[in-house]
Amino acid sequence: MRFHSATLKLTLFYVLIAMAISVSFSFALFNISSKELGRGLGRQTGLMRDLPMERFQGGFVPNFEELRVQQLDESNGRLRDNLIYFNVLILLLSSGAGYFLARKTLEPIEEAVEAQNHFTADASHELRTPLTAMKTEIEVAMRDKKLNLDQAKVLLKSNLDEIGKLESLSNALLKLSRYQNESRTDFRKLSLSRLVVEAYQKVEPLAEEKNISFDNDLNDVSILGDKQSLVELFVILLDNAIKYSPNNSTIVIKINSTDDHVIATIKDYGAGIKASDLPFIFNRFYRADNSRSKGKISGYGLGLSIAKRIVELHNGKISVISRPGKGSQFTLKFKAYKI
Ligand code: ADP
Repeated sequence: MRFHSATLKLTLFYVLIAMAISVSFSFALFNISSKELGRGLGRQTGLMRDLPMERFQGGFVPNFEELRVQQLDESNGRLRDNLIYFNVLILLLSSGAGYFLARKTLEPIEEAVEAQNHFTADASHELRTPLTAMKTEIEVAMRDKKLNLDQAKVLLKSNLDEIGKLESLSNALLKLSRYQNESRTDFRKLSLSRLVVEAYQKVEPLAEEKNISFDNDLNDVSILGDKQSLVELFVILLDNAIKYSPNNSTIVIKINSTDDHVIATIKDYGAGIKASDLPFIFNRFYRADNSRSKGKISGYGLGLSIAKRIVELHNGKISVISRPGKGSQFTLKFKAYKI
């Protein structure tokens, strides 16, 4: 447990607070009770002193003052012992409860730090891969005494590709961190079909390269949202649908509405996702086998985690159904905008 010493410190802190309160109360209680007892005994002693002599057996009149002091000492002693037991009990209970509370307080922080560490490790790994490739290529070229201009150009072209990968990775990381820290700001009424068209225009060249056609059924519905991030969301889903679809296939985009919600679906007839991968595809840096094994499919496994965050910022839901070899359907659900 990496937060062991923090847990102990927090437990100690909770125990100190509990004990400070308990000891202060005990002191106050002791003082008040002792004073009240002293006053009561004083009054009792006064009454006894006023009693006629014949009320005392054998004419023996006890020393009332001595009795009063003795009784007061005994009562104070008992009260003090009880309060000490009580405080020991509070110490034991507050240690147990304090440890439990400290674990409960630190658990989510520990998880967040753990996730952050994983993220940093994954990001560093992804950043290092193109850097290592570039470094190796340059080192090999430098050792080649007969390197000609054409070979140097091939090297530069390859380096440029790796720089392109680094650039897209750092862009994705920046987007992720921006959406992670963003909260719902000035949302505006937006036409969902227009957002889809805008996103489509951005990915059209990729679709054309693979001769992929689109079959659209876009009802004109509105939602409250941030335009730039929602276009980004559709770009991610359309880009994936194109990436994981074979040439000459079709992608179907639909926008429907119910009484309260608008629903957008993006369906492709591509590689599909294995059931064992489905629970993880929205995790950062997760890439299913279909993308890892086919080295030529570019990506870092960040797109869907950015998409999920954008959907969360809009209080929506994103879900997926998929069958390997048959295709995937991503569904977005948002609250409908009503005047
Ligand atoms: P990547 O950059 O790898 O595409 P994403 O976060 O966008 O990262 O997606 C995570 C993984 O989910 C992908 O690596 C891929 O395996 C799978 N995936 C996402 N969309 C699709 C799709 N439309 N068809 C098949 N697999 C998909």
